Amino acid sequence: MVPQVGKKRIFFGLSFLSILALSIAIWGLWFLVFPRLKQIHYLLPLLVALGLGLFVCVVVGGLILLFFSAITERDFLFPHGKKQITVRVLFPIVTWLGSILGISKERIRNSFVEVNNSLVRATKGRILVKRILLLLPHCLQNYDCPYRVTSTFANCQRCGKCPIGSLIELAEEFKADLAIATGGTLARKVVKEKKPSVIVAVACERDMVSGIQETYPIPVFGILNERPNGPCFNTSVDLKKVEGALRLLRRNDEDGNNY
Ligand code: SF4
Repeated sequence: MVPQVGKKRIFFGLSFLSILALSIAIWGLWFLVFPRLKQIHYLLPLLVALGLGLFVCVVVGGLILLFFSAITERDFLFPHGKKQITVRVLFPIVTWLGSILGISKERIRNSFVEVNNSLVRATKGRILVKRILLLLPHCLQNYDCPYRVTSTFANCQRCGKCPIGSLIELAEEFKADLAIATGGTLARKVVKEKKPSVIVAVACERDMVSGIQETYPIPVFGILNERPNGPCFNTSVDLKKVEGALRLLRRNDEDGNNY
């Protein structure tokens, strides 16, 4: 497989830079406390240096494994937990560093979603695909549609004026649960109730990143919506991408369904 860096380079570039900054800060701290440690015991500076060095090596090693998993989309993350570094630890640091360097939050979020999806592809062999949830934002529905689809999508007449009808058909074809949420609170409630083993989500960059973070450790394959009419109004999505994500995940279907 040809390594795919693309949009992921922003996230990884900032991640390696964050770790470099962290290492310099740790070295500075150690340098400051060195005389005090030596006073306590002559071996203490060496022990503290070894401990801190080990910590930095573990973090750098974890990031290198994430990097190779994301660009080759092969599973180098054998034990659990390394993805947690990306989701919980690295993303806030990277966003903070990016804002200092003048990189827009949207570009960083976009890059993060790309990295996240590559990690889902890389680890797909370990994902138990019992229940897939296709989670959609309400803004995909045509604004003038008189049918209420958030309470039950069976109300949709599949008239073709918005992507909702086609997405319902995809959910049926791939035996996925479907939910259309009007906001983050409702989306969280749906996830709690349906208890999916994996989620295919459509959302804007901001909602997608917070959704990936909040639903962790449930894997989320994120597909960013298209906003030709501005945010939150008559948005759209590439149906081929949604179908591709469902097909990819269903390949691991433990019931042996063939899609
Ligand atoms: S496909 Fe038609 S009926 Fe269904 S939500 Fe969209 S506009 Fe309404």
